[in-house]
Amino acid sequence: MAAVMPVPAASRVLMSGNEAVARAVWEAGVKVAAAYPGTPSTEMLEVISTYPDLYAEWSVNEKVSLEVAIGCAYAGSRAFCCMKHVGMNVASDALMTLTLTGVVGGLVIAIADDVGLSSSQNEQDSRYWGRFAHVPVLEPADSQEAYAMTLYGYALSEKLQVPVILRMTTRINHVKSLVTVGERGEHVGAGFTKEPARFVMVPGNAGKRIPLMFAREIKLRELAETSELNFIEDGPDKRVGFIASGPAYMHVKESFPNAPVLKLGFSSPVPFDKCRELAAMVDQVVVVEEVEPLVETELKAQGLKVIGKEILPLQGELSPNVLKPAIARLLGEPMPETTTFAPMQVFPRPPTMCVACPHLGVYYTLSQVRNLNISGDIGCYTLGAGHPWNALDTCVSMGASMGVALGMDKGRGEADKDKRIVAVIGDSTFLHMGMQGLLDMVYNKGNVTVLLLDNRAVGMTGGQNNPGNGYGIHGEEAPRIDFARLVSALGVKDERIHKVNPYELPVLFKTIRDEVKVPDVSVIITDQPCVLVKDYHKLKPFEVMDDKCTGCGNCIDVGCPAIHVTSRGKEVKPSGREVDLAFVRIETSVCTGCGLCVQPCAPKAIVHHMATSPINLVTKGCEA
Ligand code: SF4
Ligand code: SF4
Repeated sequence: MAAVMPVPAASRVLMSGNEAVARAVWEAGVKVAAAYPGTPSTEMLEVISTYPDLYAEWSVNEKVSLEVAIGCAYAGSRAFCCMKHVGMNVASDALMTLTLTGVVGGLVIAIADDVGLSSSQNEQDSRYWGRFAHVPVLEPADSQEAYAMTLYGYALSEKLQVPVILRMTTRINHVKSLVTVGERGEHVGAGFTKEPARFVMVPGNAGKRIPLMFAREIKLRELAETSELNFIEDGPDKRVGFIASGPAYMHVKESFPNAPVLKLGFSSPVPFDKCRELAAMVDQVVVVEEVEPLVETELKAQGLKVIGKEILPLQGELSPNVLKPAIARLLGEPMPETTTFAPMQVFPRPPTMCVACPHLGVYYTLSQVRNLNISGDIGCYTLGAGHPWNALDTCVSMGASMGVALGMDKGRGEADKDKRIVAVIGDSTFLHMGMQGLLDMVYNKGNVTVLLLDNRAVGMTGGQNNPGNGYGIHGEEAPRIDFARLVSALGVKDERIHKVNPYELPVLFKTIRDEVKVPDVSVIITDQPCVLVKDYHKLKPFEVMDDKCTGCGNCIDVGCPAIHVTSRGKEVKPSGREVDLAFVRIETSVCTGCGLCVQPCAPKAIVHHMATSPINLVTKGCEA
């Protein structure tokens, strides 16, 4: 994204948590910011990239992004890195050694937990990383805190030479609230000082750093005990006191405004004395934390009598509708009236791909080929598991389609011995973590057909630039990876590499059918862009001629949302078999003329749209 003029200092601005963190990163004088996109963290780096005087990059995966930030922090400059929760699983290898070396310039790592699974394959609690790596965790409860804690994170990081985790959740990342912003401060990096005993983590050196890490943790706990980010708010209703952090704190305040609350902003290491102070003020203590019972378990280990997940769920947000009944049950009170709404009658709208998405052709074709086990991956194309294609059988983690496919091949049961194994992976996911899996597959002589869907975009998170599309973070030209050469370099035989236009269904069908029969690793690269990127060009739309449509429904199986059913019927075939009929219409205002649905329409009922209105519905600049 192009640079913009930052809002002046002292302005009060409505900001999401992501925007607030971005502003604080800029004000902190950060020199390098790196990330791999992932909901709900993506906007942090997108916004950072619009600020002047710092370097921002989309890295190929979270581990690389953290390593780039580490290099900057080793060089004495301030660095920032952000990711969604599963990204830290990838980056943790670097984190677990970084905790031994520590940093020179401040390093804040923002991890966004998708509590409630809005757009993730699992629900994780990133506060664990603070415990595992013995680094501090800060937890904002709104955008102002996200801003302030990011700034504080740099001071803390440099004070104790430790990376700082800023744990956010979807509600904090995306909800907007007012933030008072400040000035950008200059931070001058000291430059890299060669210090092998600290920065070269071989056993002899690392072993000497471990006691320093634990000594640092003692100092961190002392700081947490006195931190202004951890404070008790007294209240007249002493029956229950609450310990809460992040958005859970807001839910507690809304639900029980008269109860004493210990708010944890500097939540790890846990300030045990502060917790004891609250416990002494109330009849009983309830720990309200999303997702895992981390604070609760640690307090119980300290001998504190607290209640937590015995009465609260281990999954999802702890909103007032969850908290109020749980506490009423604890106190033996009648159930409070909760706000309920009559179910709204909404038209069922399952998740689907975009109109004319190039993946439609791939999944339509896969749904037509018999005898396949299809290992999938993370991205828009995971939707291939849904209706009408049902053409994806597994989805585990970024890049997992490769290893899972090889494992399916090598571990075939009797029932699968004649199955063909297919792996489907997108371009960005392939560069993120799929390449290694393909190399493994080649090296270990797998029998898998890989469909590499090169749509030149990280489509799922909004089309960020990456090495697959040849543009940098600001839209400038950058080297573009040639996927055919890349997979060739990974050892796939050149005769087993095919580039196919996914809109040409017969060619795609024949290529897949032929390659799955070859007992070797094949890679079929589809090479048409995502319909949401600037490289995509619309064509003249199509329409259905009602008098020619037989209602066979073949076009519906393509799965394009521009096609909808206008009426249904039944037909009795000469054999006596009754078949369902579905007559259709194409929404010409959104049809991009990709031609996918035209191909399975035997009666040729789908033809180019003849505009009858003076309004030309074809977007300006489209090819006709
Ligand atoms: S041609 Fe058919 S498949 Fe392509 S966008 Fe139009 S309606 Fe959808
Ligand atoms: S494929 Fe052709 S004939 Fe069949 S429903 Fe679609 S438009 Fe009608």
